[in-house]
Amino acid sequence: MFEQIERVPGDAILGLIDAFKKDTNPNKVDLGVGVYRDASGNTPVLESVKIAEERLLSSETTKSYIGSHGDPAYGSAVLSLVLGETSPVLEANRASLTQSPGGTGALRLAADFIKANLPGKAIWLSAPTWPNHLGIFDAAGVERKSYPYVSADNTLDFDGMVETFETIPEGDIVLLHACCHNPSGFDLSKAQWQQVLEIISRRNLLPLIDFAYQGFGDGLDDDAYGVRLLAESLDEVIITSSCSKNFGIYRERTGALILIAKDQEQMENVRSQAAITARENYSNPPAHGGAIVSTILNDNALRVQWLGEVDEMRQRINSLRRNFVKAMAPYGLEERFRFIEQQRGMFSFTGLTPEQVDRLRDEFSIYMVRSGRANVAGLSHDVLDYVAKAIATVVK
Ligand code: PMP
Repeated sequence: MFEQIERVPGDAILGLIDAFKKDTNPNKVDLGVGVYRDASGNTPVLESVKIAEERLLSSETTKSYIGSHGDPAYGSAVLSLVLGETSPVLEANRASLTQSPGGTGALRLAADFIKANLPGKAIWLSAPTWPNHLGIFDAAGVERKSYPYVSADNTLDFDGMVETFETIPEGDIVLLHACCHNPSGFDLSKAQWQQVLEIISRRNLLPLIDFAYQGFGDGLDDDAYGVRLLAESLDEVIITSSCSKNFGIYRERTGALILIAKDQEQMENVRSQAAITARENYSNPPAHGGAIVSTILNDNALRVQWLGEVDEMRQRINSLRRNFVKAMAPYGLEERFRFIEQQRGMFSFTGLTPEQVDRLRDEFSIYMVRSGRANVAGLSHDVLDYVAKAIATVVK
């Protein structure tokens, strides 16, 4: 029966990881993979996470199931982190949280929830977006459409975006990146979020906000600006949150689906549907990552330590952005690459062509995806001059 099944090509990023591993050039630089790296090129376990894990190991008394919505302590801690401690949405009891296996699991829950409960509604994705968005909504059978986000000259296409929003049928879903847009690094300003709110509200659209990088842009609260604005101003919002990056617990698969409804009654209705969706996918979420997060967020000293570690990761990325632009100055390219320091998050659309990306790999052992998306966290201050010189060579 399997003989008719064809092999599909592997993920382009996995091919890149393989090629990087095999490259024997001692100066090689990996700007491909989407994980945070410290100055030594490692993706470390945060100190606060280590301490939380030690506590959990000695205090854990059972490995029994934690329920379809997950651990309530995790749920309330993450709701406060995402919506703000004093959120009127929490005060009104109109937000439901379902712990999920990562942000990806939360997106799949959202997709299945939409398919089952909002039949006939399409999801509108930014072009470009994180490629897995396409696969997740396709797999769930939700019709997928797109709105422009990046112009041909590699700038945020806000006009194109809102022009398309004006044409979206009532009740359709628009997926927005809360901050640190993957893959482009272009984020909305506060004024632009206000405009998005106005259109969504007037046209009666349903926002789904993907919040995978809270703390990696301008800070935990600043990054939540759009999320909180929409949650507090609209009756209905879907949020998918991830603890993979800001807690550095990628492999522990820790995320959340947050459903915000008009009132507590409707929230309980949609919450009951989210439980069914979770049960039919994997029954219960994994517990360990959520236990780490709630241990940290519910302990004052650990929380302060974690806040410091998030600040450090963010500041490293933003300082690499600034210093990369400075490193382009000797080649007269500082202004051309100025946008890199305005973008936010781990990723940058560099504006490099596929041919230029190929040359960087073949001549300088610098690896990034052919779309020109670079993981800024893959840089280090030691290699900035090398990378700047290589880029100057291929763009000349
Ligand atoms: N959304 C976006 C935009 C992402 O970039 C990612 C991670 N690459 C995710 C969601 C999912 O993250 P995870 O499943 O690892 O928590």
